[in-house]
Amino acid sequence: MSAPPGLPPKEELLQRAEEVLKELEKGPWPSHVTELRKTRYPLHVYGVGLVARKSPWGPAAVKVEYVNTGVLSRWARDWVPGGGSEVHFRVFHTPGKFLRTDFVRKITKISRELGVGLIELVGQTGALVLNLTPETAEQMVDALREIGTDVGGSGDAIRALNACVGPALCEFALYDTLKWYAEFHKGKRVNDNIVTPNYPFKFKAKFSGCPFDCTRAVHRADFGFIGVWEGAPEVDQELLRRKIEAGEVDPAKLAANCPSGAITWDGKELKIDGSRCKKSMHCIRAAFPAIKPGKKVKIAVVVGGHVKGRFGGKMGKPLAVVNSVEEAMDWVVKTVESWMEYMEKGVVKHKDRIGDFIMKVGFKKYLTEILGINEERKPTLHPSLRAGAVLDDEERTMWANWAGKIVEEYFGKRP
Ligand code: SF4
Repeated sequence: MSAPPGLPPKEELLQRAEEVLKELEKGPWPSHVTELRKTRYPLHVYGVGLVARKSPWGPAAVKVEYVNTGVLSRWARDWVPGGGSEVHFRVFHTPGKFLRTDFVRKITKISRELGVGLIELVGQTGALVLNLTPETAEQMVDALREIGTDVGGSGDAIRALNACVGPALCEFALYDTLKWYAEFHKGKRVNDNIVTPNYPFKFKAKFSGCPFDCTRAVHRADFGFIGVWEGAPEVDQELLRRKIEAGEVDPAKLAANCPSGAITWDGKELKIDGSRCKKSMHCIRAAFPAIKPGKKVKIAVVVGGHVKGRFGGKMGKPLAVVNSVEEAMDWVVKTVESWMEYMEKGVVKHKDRIGDFIMKVGFKKYLTEILGINEERKPTLHPSLRAGAVLDDEERTMWANWAGKIVEEYFGKRP
């Protein structure tokens, strides 16, 4: 890439980069530049990029022997004086991202001695990221394996799994996300497919303990497992009354803000119609612990959510509501196997995510022929949420009528 127009000569560019970096260290708040100065990160490249108002990085590849995935690298573009590179590993992390202090010490030691002394603890994928120098990459892999972890999770492979903190820290957790993360990881096939990319594209699985969905399973998981409950949330009327008297909760607002109009307030008692409740968590967030999730816990399985994919981003589709994550494991395997099979047939192309694959074969065919979910197996969260449906029948009719009116307005009444 050619240099952006109007850049000063190299010496002056570096000087201006340093001035911009110093600017970022001013003020009473913590400065990322001050922290980065403590490492061997090529900070001048960052500074030059800020002056040029262009990314100073270009894509690159670093090959580390016996490591098939997880190494990502970029090199400073030609116009960056002094050059530089930034290479990092994704490292297996733990459910809920709980790290033992002795593990953090060991990782820090490895990073200081063999890397550039920089660790990113919460990457977008949830992975632990270690910056390294290409020359010591192989030594670093050995060091990681010695402390019981490994490099993994990039490319067309199973990406780092993600689980919310779940019952370890969160009062909303409806199932043990940490346990199921670990169970999923235990499978040899899962681990093999984390370290060896051979899929059409990436595959992500996420475990959220409740509909707040802290791992963003609906938006970002090829398979998402979200804790839900059957029926209405539980209401402790006495506690709620006290909260209302203390001005902490406005019941009229609670009813007005319920997205499905499931709440009614008669001035004395708040009622929630379980058949309408969409698990938005709005009333629970506003009035907890007077309103809590129901006790009949289930797991909602969503499939095909992603941001990047051949046909653009997609929300995950509700696939089923099951009693345990275990019930859905077989569907994960079947989905991935036919994703690969359809790639061999030429239907699925490279860079088709699971959501794209389902779009190509059709949700009904996916459900019945690939997963073998027949009509009776169709799950219900409440009577109107069926597999593949995101709207209940009432809403579907409302939107269909609305769309019909617009079509009529533009194209006239259909014969
Ligand atoms: S998804 Fe729910 S259970 Fe998990 S941490 Fe977030 S709020 Fe808590």
